[in-house]
Amino acid sequence: MIDNMVLDKKYKNLGIHLSGGADSSIIYYALCEFYKDDPDAKIYVATQQTVWKPAYVEAAKNIIKIVGMYTGKYPEKHYTHVNTSHNSRESPDESYAAGIQEIRSVVQNEVDIDVWYNGVTSNPSVDVLHPLIDKLAKTVYKEPWMRQAAIDCTIGMNPEREQSFTKANRSPVGHKTFVRKDGSTYQYLNSHPFVQQDKMATYKAYKDLGMLEDLYPWTFSCEGPVENQNYHGIDTEHCGYCLFCLERYYAFGKLR
Ligand SMILES: [Zn+2]
Repeated sequence: MIDNMVLDKKYKNLGIHLSGGADSSIIYYALCEFYKDDPDAKIYVATQQTVWKPAYVEAAKNIIKIVGMYTGKYPEKHYTHVNTSHNSRESPDESYAAGIQEIRSVVQNEVDIDVWYNGVTSNPSVDVLHPLIDKLAKTVYKEPWMRQAAIDCTIGMNPEREQSFTKANRSPVGHKTFVRKDGSTYQYLNSHPFVQQDKMATYKAYKDLGMLEDLYPWTFSCEGPVENQNYHGIDTEHCGYCLFCLERYYAFGKLR
């Protein structure tokens, strides 16, 4: 079980944004595990890939395959979307979020979703990350420039985003109304169990569900040099210094 995650057999149409990163992958696993013996429960998966994050669809497909192997549960449909406006590290967070909204809206127009899941977490603070970077510089970084590259990645952190989460003004469960293209509406729940916590909550979920070895190493969220973001399963290289990699070192103590 994942703390604060909505799981109730009365809900039959489940939607999830699965990026193939650590957070959404363990939520997807928990969902499939919970519904594995319920053929009436339909899971609709959405994945956005962007020019700057080109590996997501491939990674998500692989996570679906692995989770299917363990649970026997597969999605009813996997929706994918390529967002061309998110094309560099400097692309605003809004362009990424807008793409997610777009694909989610496609799903929710086709299906009356009961619960929509996503794996958003709060970032750990720079007060935690900077000492971690110093430690990595002494232990795992092969080249001296990697320490500075890691520091630079933490500078890009958006303080407003952090505040909006850490001020606890977003509950892990939200009651929402979806407006269809034709103007009609339906109610659904938003479940983002990690929203008020950082990656440590994700680590705890993997540990509690016994998937630290069997699922975590296959997840991928690195935004190092885009030419290196070529997903090929468990052997995929992570840069080690982007914010996503730092979070993995912070919570899991290793990249994969
Ligand atoms: Zn990275």
